[in-house]
Amino acid sequence: MSKKRVIQNIGLLLSGDLQNPILDADTILIEDGIITQVGLLSNCDCEQADLVIDACGLTVAPGLIDGHVHPTFGEYSPRANHSHWISHCLQGGVTTMVSAGEVHVPGRPIDPIGTKALAIAAQRSFSLARPGGAKVIAGAPLLSEDLRREDFVEMAQAGIRLLGEVGIGTVSDVKVAKQMVAWARETGIQSLTHTGGPSIPGSRLMQCDDSGNRSGCHWSYQWWPHCPSQTSNLPLV
Ligand SMILES: [Zn+2]
Repeated sequence: MSKKRVIQNIGLLLSGDLQNPILDADTILIEDGIITQVGLLSNCDCEQADLVIDACGLTVAPGLIDGHVHPTFGEYSPRANHSHWISHCLQGGVTTMVSAGEVHVPGRPIDPIGTKALAIAAQRSFSLARPGGAKVIAGAPLLSEDLRREDFVEMAQAGIRLLGEVGIGTVSDVKVAKQMVAWARETGIQSLTHTGGPSIPGSRLMQCDDSGNRSGCHWSYQWWPHCPSQTSNLPLV
């Protein structure tokens, strides 16, 4: 049996589309978990709704995406020794998170087989679980010495789509990192753009100019084709 829900009396409805950010609407109709109608109340089919939520004139916006988190498993954060951090972020409007590496797993393996196993386990775990209701895209291996091209192929075939932060893993040579990032990208695994100062002891700065190939540094999201010269010396966390 289908579920029909209505959110009405919305004061400001943001679309998430920069070209058309504010919608001329005060009502959202949701059927079986999918938004089927957005508009003014008088134009929406709200008959026989199972649930009507009065937004009381508040703003409704699409969920925020945090493009850089370091989950372990579930909501536990060993580094801070607390739990429910994902639920707390959800309360702040973050509905999707992207892992930049499961770096805080206690005893995180650094050998190739352990690196692969951890990444695949994290990807599987978060694809089946939604802690607090948030979607977490995880399974981001950190660069490890002795990883070979076939390891990236294997991970890609297993469903890995993200590379953890370059600069945290055991690889300290920029040229080695560059080669591994290239292997990852060849298989469809993306590496993350990153800004901010180093915050973890042992993390290191890798510069675009040193890499000799801009795709080898953190400025390597697919839609960022060139490393801006004015930000070419970014520290990695
Ligand atoms: Zn980080």
